[in-house]
Amino acid sequence: MSEKRTEISELGEFALIDHLNESIKIKNASTLKGIGDDAAVIDSGETVKVVTTDLLLEGVHFDLSYAPLHHVGFKAVAVNVSDVAAMNAIPKQITVSIALSNRFSVEAVDALYAGINAAAEHYGVDVIGGDTTASHSGLVISITAIGEAKKEQISYRSGAKVNDIVCVTGDLGAALVGLQILEREKQVFIANPDMKPQLENFTYVTGRQLKPDARMDIIHEMRDLEIVPSSMIDISDGLASELFHICKSSGVGVTIYEDKLPIDKQTFDTAVELGLDPITCVLNGGEDYELLFTIDQKDYEKLEKHPDIHFIGHVTNAEEGKYLVTKSGTTAQLKAQGWKHF
Ligand code: ADP
Ligand code: MG
Repeated sequence: MSEKRTEISELGEFALIDHLNESIKIKNASTLKGIGDDAAVIDSGETVKVVTTDLLLEGVHFDLSYAPLHHVGFKAVAVNVSDVAAMNAIPKQITVSIALSNRFSVEAVDALYAGINAAAEHYGVDVIGGDTTASHSGLVISITAIGEAKKEQISYRSGAKVNDIVCVTGDLGAALVGLQILEREKQVFIANPDMKPQLENFTYVTGRQLKPDARMDIIHEMRDLEIVPSSMIDISDGLASELFHICKSSGVGVTIYEDKLPIDKQTFDTAVELGLDPITCVLNGGEDYELLFTIDQKDYEKLEKHPDIHFIGHVTNAEEGKYLVTKSGTTAQLKAQGWKHF
């Protein structure tokens, strides 16, 4: 009898993680949260520590034909800081592990580290270690970030309550649209190396793809206002996918409104130029690294006038499902496509 073989693509990334989690037993009381949020939470006496890690592979997560090494270094730090922010914690330390093929020179590693160090400065984190090894397939970067907060300040994905207000920061969809532009210009260049890439009308969207900024500014502002979001997640896989995570973890439903969804004008116009539906880019675009969170209605007044926080809907009972109310007033069931790596 042949052995059973299940393709990873049959499960997808999230079901695979759930499957792995079934085999893991937590042994230590200090592990307050293991797998299943943006970062793990560890009891550390007066405070709690949060720990998160991300792995970036050349050719999968970044393409050095248009992403400068400096930006790749900055982004590798920013995406980890974004997961610390999503726990409502403050990042303090990072470790940086790299694997390099012989294509890379000392100067190239210096350029990567210029970006890593710039981000470490920007977010106030210390580089405290890592690992260096050889690679047969280009550049690999893995960063682990450690953050800190008081236990009662931590926002889990699981805390959303019925009637909470759903908030997002910044604008969405730009990073996906930026990626499409970079890929388009790369193909033009491959076809005809004498052509100069036409990028000047797309600086916002390409900037959002190449050098995202984690929203620590929002975390600090909410601290000053003494707001702890009832739930929070960062938007790495698309708004709809992240809403599904919050709804699943919190055991709730959600209704959001198309006319409240934030999209930048250049993102909208570029999406149309590329033949993409702008709202699909907002709902399912990846790598925005904005924050999605819920607040109790009593906190609404404190954030009401914030120029960069948008109130896109409210939390409902799980039985009510997950819905998008379109501009024309019709109701459509939300679908979470997310990013499919497999
Ligand atoms: P994010 O998009 O916020 O970085 P992920 O979707 O990558 O989160 O991960 C979700 C959860 O699954 C996190 O708690 C993460 O630590 C955990 N996780 C992901 N991959 C693995 C793995 N191979 N083994 C154990 N835990 C994992
Ligand atoms: Mg995250």
